[in-house]
Amino acid sequence: MLRRPQYKTPWEAPRLMERFLALHDKHLSFEKIAAALSAEFGITVSKNACIGKARRLELHREKPRTTPASKPKALRSPPAEPPGQVPLLHLGNDDCHFPFGDHPTVRFCGLPKKPGSPYCAEHHAVAFVSPKQRWLI
Ligand SMILES: [Zn+2]
Repeated sequence: MLRRPQYKTPWEAPRLMERFLALHDKHLSFEKIAAALSAEFGITVSKNACIGKARRLELHREKPRTTPASKPKALRSPPAEPPGQVPLLHLGNDDCHFPFGDHPTVRFCGLPKKPGSPYCAEHHAVAFVSPKQRWLI
């Protein structure tokens, strides 16, 4: 009697990862990759397991061809003012909010924000001091 191999995760099966990467490179859907791996290796590999593995490996896929090649990122045009000269009314949600000057002539940086910060990378470094750096001051 032929016994099916027992693995805690399907990724422990020898050569499965190599085959997963090859199928991923062929741009097959995760559902088809899961079906192919399950059939070839005689174990159950779910579509979600394949999606999770691709995410953990940071494998990036191109968008499906049904979506437009480039969609408009924002309805608002980028600020026409030079960095550091953007008035509040022209400041977008993704623009650096670092202020220059005083009321009523205050202007803002306006460069793209650093993710998770209200400021660009340069102004984030100016505005936020880590506790370790604060201790050294
Ligand atoms: Zn800035």
